[in-house]
Amino acid sequence: MKKNKTTTPKLKFSGKWDYAAAPESKDHIQLNEKYDLFINGKFTAPESGKYFESINPANEKVLSKVADANAADVDKAVRAARNAYDKTWSKMPAKERGKYIFRIARAMQERARELAVIESMDGGKAIRESRDVDVPLAAAHFFYYAGWADKIDYAVPGIKAKALGVAGQIIPWNFPLLMAAWKIAPALAAGNTVVLKPAETTPLTALKLAEIIQEADLPPGVVNIVTGAGATGAALVNHSGIDKIAFTGSTEVGKMIQKAVAGTNKKYTLELGGKAANIIFEDAAIDQAVEGIINGIFFNQGHVCCAGSRLFVQEGVAKTVIRKLKDRMETLIVGDPLDKNTDIGAINSKMQLDKIKQFVKIGINEGGECFQTSCSLPSKGYWFRPTIFTNVSQSSRIVQEEIFGPVLAVQTFRTVEEVIEKANNIPYGLSGGVWTDKGSKIFKVTSQLRAGVIWANTYNKFDPTSPFGGYKESGMGREGGLHGLTPYLSLEY
Ligand code: NDP
Repeated sequence: MKKNKTTTPKLKFSGKWDYAAAPESKDHIQLNEKYDLFINGKFTAPESGKYFESINPANEKVLSKVADANAADVDKAVRAARNAYDKTWSKMPAKERGKYIFRIARAMQERARELAVIESMDGGKAIRESRDVDVPLAAAHFFYYAGWADKIDYAVPGIKAKALGVAGQIIPWNFPLLMAAWKIAPALAAGNTVVLKPAETTPLTALKLAEIIQEADLPPGVVNIVTGAGATGAALVNHSGIDKIAFTGSTEVGKMIQKAVAGTNKKYTLELGGKAANIIFEDAAIDQAVEGIINGIFFNQGHVCCAGSRLFVQEGVAKTVIRKLKDRMETLIVGDPLDKNTDIGAINSKMQLDKIKQFVKIGINEGGECFQTSCSLPSKGYWFRPTIFTNVSQSSRIVQEEIFGPVLAVQTFRTVEEVIEKANNIPYGLSGGVWTDKGSKIFKVTSQLRAGVIWANTYNKFDPTSPFGGYKESGMGREGGLHGLTPYLSLEY
């Protein structure tokens, strides 16, 4: 690997940064050996008779066996959802519906520790993140949309809004519980019933959510959870009893879904891939910007659709920023997701790890200069060192394609016009970041970046009241806020 002398790390850490392990306890969590499908308020054995293993990516040990739903199972779940919609949920006064959603939110808070530990074990993310970000935000989404349930008549002034019916929802593995909350909470608040399919590698917190839904005494069939792989998702998309599909995942599968629902009455929202530009101007507060770069790309191992995976640094500060960035990267602790010191946990699956490695090879073959931190990695499990590439060009594959791992591509620029041009020259348009001391520059740049969400002098800040979603190949529709409620409503003008 080539090294650039002017930007090699300057600080010598010489072991001073080692911390004593501070593992979160697993004693308080309970995982069943086997999980069935959650249909009509009960855990139900799959018609398929098949189960698959969910493993801990940090040690490759099996956590539980989970039912693999086939088309007959999906049909059962959709029928249960339809029945619950027709007979119970659509007839219930809105404020009563709201009470159930509030109850789910409170139960999630009560079981927050358990949910956080399971999320970290099943998906590999650092406990600090699942504890402080995923679980609180997931509960916040239920709280926020619970408040909307009895205010739907005021959601769009002068327009009569009605629920759509049954929503089919498919979620990815990077924020399993949070994505379940993003999907289920607005759907229920708008008066729909749902069938949710979690990702194959991370089904466990959704199944814990099913337990919470049972405890909350939600009428049977209002929420159904069918676990399985891509075929289960496809059966849900193609089911004629579905009124709306909400999908988060890859652009490739998003396009397949779009084709599948074309010509039907199904509504759909797609939250797909991204390749965000994180732009650092010379007048930015450099140390804060470096923290923002770290957060932008290494949060959740870089398994983030809005990750700041393309860094643009203005030429005058490029050397300083890259040197400080490498120094800061050397302090990142990669390892046991349950250790409270850990900054970067395990890569979610072997498949994803292989994909990241493949992209790094491509980057090197394309002539990029690769820098990886020198941290030690555990011997078992799926791990990848924080990595940055310099000397890459706009046409490099690692600049154009979503890697979904802890790999950052760094480019430089001279003028505002140049960086806007480069930032927008990409098939995606989900998110971005701008770092500058000048408010006027923030407005100029953010108004010209073609991205759904742009942070200024910060990165990766989420709030249930704030809409999130993309342009171009990053998808269509918004989640969060009022914008995330209306796709679950039929608006009669
Ligand atoms: P997918 O898009 O395949 O997975 C997302 C969800 O869709 C999962 O629940 C998946 O099931 C399901 N699914 C898969 N195939 C179909 C289908 N034909 N019809 C309906 N549902 C389907 O992403 P992957 O997990 O395969 O990840 C591949 C790449 O996608 C990643 O490397 C990353 O680049 C990108 N990605 C982007 C995300 C984002 O939010 N932008 C999120 C996840 C991935 P199952 O997982 O069980 O197979």
